[in-house]
Amino acid sequence: MTDPFGRTISYLRVSITDRCDFRCVYCMSEDMTFLPRADLLTLEELDRLCSAFIAKGVRKLRLTGGEPLVRRNMMSLVRSLSRHLTTGALNELTLTTNGSQLERFAAELADCGVRRINVSLDTLDPAKFRAITRWGDLDKVLAGIAAARAAGLAVKINAVALKNSNEDEIPALMEWAHGLGMGLTLIEVMPLGEIGEGRIDQYVPLSLVRARLAKQYTLTDLADDTGGPARYVAVGETGGKLGFITPMTHNFCESCNRVRITCTGTLHTCLGHEDASDLRKPLRASADDQLLGEAIDRAIGLKPKGHDFIIDRRHDRPSVSRHMSVTGG
Ligand code: SAM
Ligand code: SF4
Repeated sequence: MTDPFGRTISYLRVSITDRCDFRCVYCMSEDMTFLPRADLLTLEELDRLCSAFIAKGVRKLRLTGGEPLVRRNMMSLVRSLSRHLTTGALNELTLTTNGSQLERFAAELADCGVRRINVSLDTLDPAKFRAITRWGDLDKVLAGIAAARAAGLAVKINAVALKNSNEDEIPALMEWAHGLGMGLTLIEVMPLGEIGEGRIDQYVPLSLVRARLAKQYTLTDLADDTGGPARYVAVGETGGKLGFITPMTHNFCESCNRVRITCTGTLHTCLGHEDASDLRKPLRASADDQLLGEAIDRAIGLKPKGHDFIIDRRHDRPSVSRHMSVTGG
């Protein structure tokens, strides 16, 4: 699959549920309204949809959400998708999780051929963790990370940098992650969805975070090989890898290799645009994948060149109305 700007699409991110057992302040409002269950694709339909993308050249598949591990019976989807790893059609099957259910599922994920996972964790302070996630329990997440590592999964930690919240703790978070051989990637807050408070209160540019870290640590740029928005540095003192995802301050769109589908079968070819193509209708319209394949090709043909996020005092509202938990982070 090649889009109108010559970019090859090889990476699919699938939000398998918009629900979550946390309510992170930058992601959701406390009283979120979730999609009616009847609108969701079944796990079998999600499998068919993912398999159609794999047949078209997707090599890396990431399950996300919402919280992917809270969807009932989700391991059956992982298990069935793992056949594409066995055949070699898929290079990588992975997921992004808040870690709350990992203790239960880590061994089975590893058994299904999952090799690496991303766990989102913004702080190691239990009270701050509760304040950021509203509902989360830090100990459960730490136990989940330990279980994943024990199962042989490589874990990367993702942390959203939050003004006046965890920004002072970033060196400690990095020392902890690197000390356990885990990478850390920092994410800037993105203006996605109404969350009931102003983004301007949360936003801290990673250029500032990086400048502060550079006073304490030796940061050496690493070559980019992901086609994604992250830029990586090696940290001399810890020997670990630190990533920066800076959608607000860095234009990464020219190398974008990814598209996203929601749990209702809507394809978004850009995180920062309202563009959307319904794949559920063609999926359900016939048992073979002819209509679905045509719909996918049409949608890829509409992938926009780039995004246009803005957070400033005049634009302190979401530039894209859908939440990250719907689109999939
Ligand atoms: N629940 C899982 C988790 O938290 O890892 C997967 C879904 S979550 C939407 C994926 C990632 O998006 C998380 O790392 C989260 O911190 C990040 N995220 C959510 N809302 C965001 C926002 N408005 N700006 C930047 N990152 C956001
Ligand atoms: Fe849930 Fe992940 Fe959003 Fe937090 S960031 S509310 S864990 S979906």
